[in-house]
Amino acid sequence: MSRTEAPIGAQEWVPPNAQSIDELKAAAANCRGCELYQNATQTVFGRGAPHAKIVFVGEQPGDVEDQQGLPFVGPAGRLLREAVDDAGIDPTSVYITNAVKHFRFEQRGKRRIHQNPGPAHIAACRPWLVAEFSLLQPQVVVALGATAARALFGPAFRVTRSRGQLMPWPASAQHPEDFPIAEIEALATIHPSAVLRADDRDTAYKGLVEDLRVAAAAVSG
Ligand code: SF4
Repeated sequence: MSRTEAPIGAQEWVPPNAQSIDELKAAAANCRGCELYQNATQTVFGRGAPHAKIVFVGEQPGDVEDQQGLPFVGPAGRLLREAVDDAGIDPTSVYITNAVKHFRFEQRGKRRIHQNPGPAHIAACRPWLVAEFSLLQPQVVVALGATAARALFGPAFRVTRSRGQLMPWPASAQHPEDFPIAEIEALATIHPSAVLRADDRDTAYKGLVEDLRVAAAAVSG
């Protein structure tokens, strides 16, 4: 696939009857559904409990994640784990993934500068997310940040307007029939990296924890 062609999407790499996340992960390692695999080190698939009650969806792997092949292992991941703990969520009941599974960046000298994935990358990578949800059957999906929220709930969705609200799968979502939405509730909050960038980190962190407490309450009992 050349850089100028539109992404063909991940669908043909997704095993039709996958029985486990490990099977999906192994298949995703060879995905060529868009051009992002060309410069990234490796596919960074989701990880966590095989029957997670809560699934967190971020934007894409960062520099550290790309090198280690694991999601949320950099500074934002550490902060997320702390927030999960402070929100009273059992860390063994969660699964963490990204809307896009390869690192998109711009090379500047030796540095790799994060670039937001575009709508075409999000659409191309969506079959992996659908496959993950189908196997996991979570109770609550938490979108971390604007990119993940748009990927899941549609381009009209605004995190700033709706964060921290537990809701049925929003009507704004594109192709909601892709997801087993009848049983899933949705919640959006900020990305942990936004806390790290915030001028007032304490307040931003408290806001994140408060949002996550709503998810914790939804799966308790
Ligand atoms: S970003 Fe997603 S669709 Fe693109 S190559 Fe990677 S896994 Fe495949």
